[in-house]
Amino acid sequence: MLDADFFRRWMTATAASVEHEAERLTALDSPIGDADHGSNLQRGFRAVATALEKEEPGTPGAVLMLAGRTLISTVGGASGPLYGTLLRRTGKALGDAAEVDEAEFAQALRTGVDAVVQLGGAAPGDKTMIDALLPAVDALGRSFAAARSAAEEGALATTPLQARKGRASYLGERSIGHQDPGATSSAILIAALAETAGE
Ligand code: ADP
Ligand code: MG
Ligand code: MG
Repeated sequence: MLDADFFRRWMTATAASVEHEAERLTALDSPIGDADHGSNLQRGFRAVATALEKEEPGTPGAVLMLAGRTLISTVGGASGPLYGTLLRRTGKALGDAAEVDEAEFAQALRTGVDAVVQLGGAAPGDKTMIDALLPAVDALGRSFAAARSAAEEGALATTPLQARKGRASYLGERSIGHQDPGATSSAILIAALAETAGE
C-alpha cells in the first residue's frame, strides 16, 4: 500500500532530479522554446518541497493536491498549470484515503492525465508531455518500472515529431528533430516514482 510518506518521498525525489537535470531541461527548451523549462520546474519543485515540509499533509491525496496547488502558484510557464493540474487532479481522485493500492493510484493518475489533456488540448503525437505521460499511465498497471521505461521511450519518440501545442508549435516544421522538454521532465517525474517504489 502507498501512504502519504510514499507520495511525499516521490515529490522530494522529483525535486532532487529536477535540480540535477535543470540545465538539460532548459537546454532542450532552447531550440524549440524560450529556454526556461528547467528553471521553471526548479522554482516549482523547490516550492513543493518547502510546502510539504511546512504543512505536513497526512494523506496521499492531500500531498498531491498541495504539490499541484504549489506548482500552479509558483510556475509562470505553460508547464506550471499543466503539472499542477496533473498532481491536483490525481490527488483529488485519491480522495481522503490514508493508503491507496497501486491499481487505485494508476486509476487516479489516469484521471490526472485526462485533466491535462482537457486543459491543454494536446493529443498523442503533438510533441508534448502527454507523449510521455499517457504511455506511462498505460504501463503503470504492470509495474512502476514499466511505467518508467514507457515514459522514457515516449520522451525519446518526440524527437522526430512536429510540435502542435505550446511554444514549439510556433516553429512549425523547424520543431522537428528536437526532443520535447516537457515530455523529458515527465519521464523524470515517472522515473522518480519508480525510484521511490524501489524499482
Ligand atoms: P513555456 O512554454 O510557457 O515556457 P515550459 O517551458 O515550462 O513553458 O514548458 C514547455 C513544455 O510544456 C513543452 O515542452 C510541452 O511538453 C508542454 N506543453 C506546452 N503546451 C502544452 C499543451 N497545450 N498541452 C500539453 N503540454 C504542453
Ligand atoms: Mg519554456
Ligand atoms: Mg516560458
